[in-house]
Amino acid sequence: MLDIRYEQAAAPAQKPQKGQPLGFGHIFTDHMFMMNYTQGQGWHDARIVPFQRISLSPAAMVFHYGQEMFEGMKAYRTPDGRALLFRPEMNARRANESNRRLCIPELPEEDFIQAVREIVRHDAAWIPEDPGTSLYIRPFIIATDEFLGVAPSKTYLFMIILSPSGAYYPGGMAPVGIWIEDDYVRAVRGGVGFAKTGGNYAASLIGQVKAHDEGYSQVLWLDGVERRYVEEVGAMNIFFKINGRVLTPELNGSILPGVTRDSVIQLCRSWGIEVEERRIAVDKLIEDYNNGRVEEIFGTGTAAVISPVGKLRYQDDVMVIGDGTTGPLSQRLYDALTDIQWGRAPDPLGWTMSV
Ligand SMILES: *Cc1c(COP(=O)(O)O)cnc(C)c1O
Repeated sequence: MLDIRYEQAAAPAQKPQKGQPLGFGHIFTDHMFMMNYTQGQGWHDARIVPFQRISLSPAAMVFHYGQEMFEGMKAYRTPDGRALLFRPEMNARRANESNRRLCIPELPEEDFIQAVREIVRHDAAWIPEDPGTSLYIRPFIIATDEFLGVAPSKTYLFMIILSPSGAYYPGGMAPVGIWIEDDYVRAVRGGVGFAKTGGNYAASLIGQVKAHDEGYSQVLWLDGVERRYVEEVGAMNIFFKINGRVLTPELNGSILPGVTRDSVIQLCRSWGIEVEERRIAVDKLIEDYNNGRVEEIFGTGTAAVISPVGKLRYQDDVMVIGDGTTGPLSQRLYDALTDIQWGRAPDPLGWTMSV
């Protein structure tokens, strides 16, 4: 149980107005959570303070060797005004999986959840109310030793910042075009693909830029060894409905284990729809497409929840999926998940937690 000290912002910032477009990741709330780690002392000095710049040595290790991790989750405003988190224990557990891989000290899961709840509760007035909007929660840990040697840092900073964010689909669910990258790779087994750590995203930017230049909105990465097996999209896991079966790549160490991915698998199974987690070869996918067996493709992640794929390009092949419109399973999953997250429907699997 953390003993959190509070320091109130002297002049609260102007909150976004109802109906104002929020976009993503530009607006921050009045406060943030901070806690330090010092070797020998452990995590200490948990505090909620005004949102402000932080000061670090230019030699702070995070700037040079990228020892850092982050998480991404949301708080949702219910019709009766409550605030809900969605499966925060999954983020707490995944945070420690990232920490272990990156030699960052672990954080008790209950402390992670307590910190998230307290900062969200403190700035709960910032949770927007317009349909589809939410408060994005960004916990992260950085290595702060002033030292240019390559070694695990002895000091760290854990922070949580909050950002009101707009509806991902202001005009209804819209399918995206995806570029299957066969040159650059994102991660390899044994590396850090399963961890939410900055380096993965720095390494993926070039593929993202290339896909944009080609007129596609996101990249679908292939495995780093054979460049044959489908892994995941930029910040989403990927699902296929082929010949009546739902498939998704198995968690093989180079894929991020998404909370939304796990929720989609559980929901499908609760509806009697089988889901297979296995290797999916891109050449087999094209063969299935050419035989008219690919019914739906969709990405899953906290930001979009479900992102239908309308078009997929691999080398010179362009595949148009389900006439380029949103498929019935994608729509059903989107509706079911968002109804639970925004507290509009019962929560039979116990996934939400009041702030
Ligand atoms: C965060 C993330 C996901 C999705 O995870 P969720 O917990 O569902 O938001 C998928 N892939 C990558 C690379 C990610 O960073």
